[in-house]
Amino acid sequence: MKKKEVNSSRIPIYRDAGFELYDALSTAEAFSKETEHSREPDKYIYSRYRNPTVVSAEEEIMKLEKCAWALLTQSGMSAIDTALSIFQLGKETRPWLFFTEIYGGTISYIESVLKSRRGLDIQYFTPENGNYNLVEFEKVISVLKPVFVYIETISNPMLIVADVEGITGIAKKYGTKVIIDNTFATPWLYKPLNEGADIVIHSATKYFSGHGNLTAGVICGNDNKIMQSAIEYRKFVGHTLSADDAYRLQTQIQSFDLRFSRQCSNATRLAAFLNDQPVINHVWFPGLKIHPSNQFAEKLFGSKGYGAMITFDFDGKDKTEKKNRRDKFIESVSEKIKLIPTLGDPHTILMPVEAVWGTKYPEPGMIRLSVGFEEYSELERTIVKALDIVKEN
Ligand code: PLP
Repeated sequence: MKKKEVNSSRIPIYRDAGFELYDALSTAEAFSKETEHSREPDKYIYSRYRNPTVVSAEEEIMKLEKCAWALLTQSGMSAIDTALSIFQLGKETRPWLFFTEIYGGTISYIESVLKSRRGLDIQYFTPENGNYNLVEFEKVISVLKPVFVYIETISNPMLIVADVEGITGIAKKYGTKVIIDNTFATPWLYKPLNEGADIVIHSATKYFSGHGNLTAGVICGNDNKIMQSAIEYRKFVGHTLSADDAYRLQTQIQSFDLRFSRQCSNATRLAAFLNDQPVINHVWFPGLKIHPSNQFAEKLFGSKGYGAMITFDFDGKDKTEKKNRRDKFIESVSEKIKLIPTLGDPHTILMPVEAVWGTKYPEPGMIRLSVGFEEYSELERTIVKALDIVKEN
């Protein structure tokens, strides 16, 4: 066995900005491999290009998504920017097609950056009655022939499950690439690259890091040409994750399966419980038969789980009563369930939907829960207490 300098079993945090290259020949050789996902220990150049601690965290994600490469970035948004921008080819750029049920921050980026600043031809595809109609989708795509279609496996906050296999099959017929934000589903439930998707994105801020203490993003794939463009773009704009954050991510991701499987089972139990409460009007959770995309959730995930997000609203005689009940609920659980605008944390956290999405979702008083991996009985107890207070008011 090769003897190491220090008997540590972990890759250290390499904080080097530039790496030592020794002579002109090795420098030229290192630069010639700049756009490879190389693991050669003496070919690092500069941390904005590639960094050994970051590569080691990328390898953990490659094992999870079972893909040929993964590139870490400083946030989910910089992963999205990288994945999309590599398809921009000046005036030659054909339309880009986005499903409308995607993260609000992505929509804002599309509108402000891609449309307003870059002047790109952006098109949207909207669901009907809570699902995507693939017959309509084929009609749109056959006329538009977009460069790519962009979807989320499980959408935010209505938790629509996209029929990734069906969508990918249609897109391929028209030479359209498929880019999937798999943040809510995670590879534990589903691996879109196995179904022919070209790029998978994650906000690693969420379930991969899992502790609400770092921001990171990742793009994953199998196509070498896409990887080379993405490595180049990430380098040009400086989106690469820092070694410090990569170290923490690499450590925290070791418990991803354990955390997420427990979060999914807690969410499945809690959704069924909430669905039985008279004070609650409706529960949106892909594992419930009443959810419009339950059939796709079953198709994609089997019975493994349905993600760990639940959206629900309150019963009430009018909008005001429903919103008052929401506010009372938020107040009553606040010791245990905090209002924190993220998801995938260890503890259950919540967001009032209207405060973030405005009137996009007209049901008043909706709450989105990110279910944690705390003891289930403790979580249910907190919610039972809060619902009792809501009923009394
Ligand atoms: N994708 C989804 C589905 C998200 O929910 C988010 C953030 O909430 C992002 C991407 C952006 O990730 P980040 O906040 O790490 O930039």
